[in-house]
Amino acid sequence: MALKGLDIFKLTPKTNCKECGSPTCMAFSMKVAQGAISIDKCPHMSQEALDKLSEATAPLMKTITVGAGEAAHQLGGETVLYRHEKKFVNRNLFAVTVTPETFDEKWEQVKGIDYDRIGERMYVEALALEYTGDADAYAALAEKAKATGRALILDCDDAAAARKALEVVGDAKPLLNGASAANADEFAALAQEFKCVLGVSGATLDELHDTVEAIEGKGLKDLVLNCSTASAKDAFEYAVQIRRSDLKGQDRTFGYPSIVNVAKLAPGDAHLQEAYASLFTVKYGSIVVMEEMSYADALPLYGLRQNVFTDPQKPMTVEPGIYPLNGADENAPIATTVDFALTYFVVSGELERAGVPVNLVISDAGGYSVLTSWAAGKLSASSIAKFISENGIADKIKSRKLIIPGKVAVLKGELEQKLPDFEIIVAPNEATDLVKFMKQFA
Ligand code: SF4
Repeated sequence: MALKGLDIFKLTPKTNCKECGSPTCMAFSMKVAQGAISIDKCPHMSQEALDKLSEATAPLMKTITVGAGEAAHQLGGETVLYRHEKKFVNRNLFAVTVTPETFDEKWEQVKGIDYDRIGERMYVEALALEYTGDADAYAALAEKAKATGRALILDCDDAAAARKALEVVGDAKPLLNGASAANADEFAALAQEFKCVLGVSGATLDELHDTVEAIEGKGLKDLVLNCSTASAKDAFEYAVQIRRSDLKGQDRTFGYPSIVNVAKLAPGDAHLQEAYASLFTVKYGSIVVMEEMSYADALPLYGLRQNVFTDPQKPMTVEPGIYPLNGADENAPIATTVDFALTYFVVSGELERAGVPVNLVISDAGGYSVLTSWAAGKLSASSIAKFISENGIADKIKSRKLIIPGKVAVLKGELEQKLPDFEIIVAPNEATDLVKFMKQFA
C-alpha cells in the first residue's frame, strides 16, 4: 500500500539539512509519497527506515532493460497515466517482425530508416523474430539478426527452439516473448538460465495475472506483459487495464512494461497497422511490433512518439553551437537566434529556403522563444557576445557580419559596443520575410 507523506516524514531524521535538495524533511517526504523523488536521496535515513520504506515507496511500474550494449533500451518505469500529470519516462520501442524467409528484404528496408529529429535518433530499435516451426532456421535467423546491432525479441513459444536461439544470442539479452500458463515453468527456467527478460501472455487478464504471479514466485522480476490478442479491442483493453491496475489500483503484479504486436491485429494491412501503432504509442505499448516500417510509416510515428515522450514542463531545445546552412564556410555571415526547437526549425527552414550560405549560431537561451527569452534576461547583448567569444566562434568564422532577430533590434547598440569588430545587422521581425531579406543581403 502506498505511504502518505506524513508516514514517511515520521521516519526521516527531521533535521531539515536540505542535502536531499528539498528545503525540509516534510517537503522531501511529500515528494517521495508522490513518486517524484527516490527515498535514497536522503543520505541520513537509517537502514531500518530505508528497509521499511523501500518496498512501499518503490515505483509501481518496474524499469526493465531489454538488449545489451548499444542495443540496450529501458522500458517502463512510468508513474502517471496521463502525460500532462507529469511526464512519460521511457519512450516505447518500435520493432519489425522478421522470419528466415523475410529477413534480408526487411532488414534492407529497416536499416534505411535512420535519421535525427530534434537531437533524437529515429530508427527501428528492435527486430521481432517470429518462429515458423524450424528450430535450426530460427537459431540461424537469431544469429543474423544479432549482427544488425538491434535489440532482439524472440517471439517463440517453443521452449526447445527458444533454447537453440538463446544459445546463439543469449549474450544480446533478447526479450524472450513466449511464456504463457501452459509453459510458464519451462520459459521461466530459460529466462533464469540466460538472464533475459521474459514476455508473458494470458488468454484473459485473470490468467495473465495468475501466470505473472506464478513466475514472480520463482524469483523472476524482469518481465514484459504481452498485450497481443486476436482483436484490437481486446489488445487495447489489456494495455489500458494493465496500466490502470498498476498505477491507480496499485497492483504490482501488473507493474511491468508491455508489448503489443499490431502485425497480428491487422496482418497485411500496413495502413491499419500504422493506425494501431499510433494508438498503442499513446496507450500504453512499451514495445510496438509491426510487420514492416517504411519511411512513410516512420515519419508520423516517430514524430508522434517524440511528442508524447517529451517532458511537457520543459521546452524542446536544440544544442547550442554553429549550424552551417547552404554550404556555409568560415566566410559566410553569422545569424543568431534562440535554442527553442520550434524557433530553430522555423528560422533554419527559411534560411535554407533563401539558399544563401549562412552560419546559424544558437546560444543557450533557456529554451524560450526570442521575445520570452529576452524578457526573461536569457537573451541579451551580453549573452550573445559571451557565447561568441567564449565558444571560439570569432576564431572559427572569419566573417564579421552578425544578423540578429528583428524582435530584439533593441540589442543592436549594445552589441556594437560589446563586439566592436562586428557589423550588427537586424533581420526582419517575421521568419517568413527571411528569404527576401537574405537574398537582398547576399
Ligand atoms: S537530506 Fe534527509 S534529513 Fe536532510 S532535509 Fe532531506 S530528508 Fe531531511
